[in-house]
Amino acid sequence: MTIDSGGATSASAGERAATERLRIARAAQPGYERPFRTRTVDVGGVRFGGDEVVVVAGPCAVESRAQTLTIARACRSAGVRMLRGGAYKPRTSPYSFQGLGRAGLEILAEARAETGLPFVTEVLDPRLVELVASYADMLQIGSRNMQNFPLLAEVGRARKPVLLKRGFGTTVEEWLCSAEHILHAGNTEIVFCERGLRSFDGGPRPRTALDLAGLRRLRELAPFPVLVDPSHVAGSFERVPELAAAGLDAGAHGLLIEVIADGTDRDTVLCDGPHAIEIGVLRRIVERAAAPVREIRV
Ligand code: PEP
Ligand code: MN
Repeated sequence: MTIDSGGATSASAGERAATERLRIARAAQPGYERPFRTRTVDVGGVRFGGDEVVVVAGPCAVESRAQTLTIARACRSAGVRMLRGGAYKPRTSPYSFQGLGRAGLEILAEARAETGLPFVTEVLDPRLVELVASYADMLQIGSRNMQNFPLLAEVGRARKPVLLKRGFGTTVEEWLCSAEHILHAGNTEIVFCERGLRSFDGGPRPRTALDLAGLRRLRELAPFPVLVDPSHVAGSFERVPELAAAGLDAGAHGLLIEVIADGTDRDTVLCDGPHAIEIGVLRRIVERAAAPVREIRV
């Protein structure tokens, strides 16, 4: 793709073809051609893409009412602006916990009613978009579904903003084209989320590699806010603060973080216990995130 003002990027024939497919993105934002100009996306009163960093946090999965309400209250007291939590979980193994489904959505709605915080939750299946959208403030497309085109079209028809996570084996151009599917179906309220690419490490080592160059490139090319998810990169909770800080330094507009209640035995957590952070750590990350979104100079 070619960027004229500020220069920097050369274009291959393949990339020019991708540019052709981004007409709607340009039309959605006058001044799109200017790199780093970001439009704002409002989710239940929370503004993504403005000067303030937005921290979204919560459990990986809604496991129970008590677990979710405890975490939601702690998130609120830590200064988090929006809740996250999976009611439908994309699990590698069919024998792993798959989420509570509709009961999980009910619990998230209760957490919102009590804390006043809007919530984002993943939708896995085009047939469930209407149901999930009837509860959620924002629909998450997970990494594994970034190129599930029927699902993208369905959330594109929904009247709720979309959090579009990057597929862990995809290019920035493919990520943009996935957003284009959503835009093409009529939904212009999109927030991107970088969550790392497949790397050589795994297990207790980092799960993925955080692509900060890709994050910057996305900010050059797309007029939409972008979050960093340090949690699914980290592999272990100790690494989350540095990854969060690196994401903000690279110009992310916010963070998506998985947490557990203080004192939780990680081995009992049904999904992603190893990288979930406790509330004290979350509080320090939120404090650091109080600085304005880092301006990127060309
Ligand atoms: C999640 O955020 O709940 C999740 C499953 O992450 P990802 O799709 O990035 O793996
Ligand atoms: Mn998770």
